[in-house]
Amino acid sequence: MRPASVANRAERGPKAGHLPGGSPVRAGHSPGRSPVRAGHSPGQPQLRAAPSPVPLRVPHGVSPSLPDDGVEEPVRGPSSAARRRAWREGWWSGAEARPSPNFDERPAGEAVTLVVLHSISLPPGEYGGDAVEQLFTNRLDCDAHPYYAQLRGLRVSAHFFVRRDGRVLQFVSCDRRAWHAGRSHWRGRDDCNHYSIGIELEGLEGHAFDDEQYRVLARLLRALARRWPIAETVGHEDVAPGRKADPGPGFDWPRLRRLLRRRRPSLPRATG
Ligand SMILES: [Zn+2]
Repeated sequence: MRPASVANRAERGPKAGHLPGGSPVRAGHSPGRSPVRAGHSPGQPQLRAAPSPVPLRVPHGVSPSLPDDGVEEPVRGPSSAARRRAWREGWWSGAEARPSPNFDERPAGEAVTLVVLHSISLPPGEYGGDAVEQLFTNRLDCDAHPYYAQLRGLRVSAHFFVRRDGRVLQFVSCDRRAWHAGRSHWRGRDDCNHYSIGIELEGLEGHAFDDEQYRVLARLLRALARRWPIAETVGHEDVAPGRKADPGPGFDWPRLRRLLRRRRPSLPRATG
């Protein structure tokens, strides 16, 4: 598919690069509310109690019952041992760990019920480099590209980054709060970082995503839903409408739904 044009660019332009958590500049609404250089202050929860029973826009949401919709491996599903192996203190066995200091604790007793999908590439539209990984681990050389100047001092992260080839990097334990959604609101609740998992897809708003990304994303979503009470998967554009537009029109939500519904036959090895 040819990339569609990138519409609705923000006046400042940097949407194309999509910075997790908000505006690229340190305007105080990056994930975690404040950039939190020390890397460890949750910031004020800012629960403004502005319940809005109606979603701000038609959600892209992927249906809640992921585990029942699609069983990834043998039809009867992974064994309990396999489930245990899949996660270790919030780290997924299917991802390469790249621990980031950009996280803090979820509010006590907060259940993880939401997945927020994003897209990012640095520089915008260039794939395959290490800049996103460097950004999320505070190692990005902001002199290396003119675009990076606006990223100086930014402290952001996501739980996962799905590369074009389907490789998955994990930066923050899912038990902890990553800083990806910034000012956000979903179904009457503010600050989605509190109760969500953030997944960044290597991409650009308006660009199509690769087959491997969909495949791996579906696998990751199933694994998440087996471990946490995930109720919905939505886009950053859904929880921060007007401010954020990723993953954007190039992301094929129906395709993801189909993948999640697809039930695979038993693996060959299951029969010996
Ligand atoms: Zn985003």
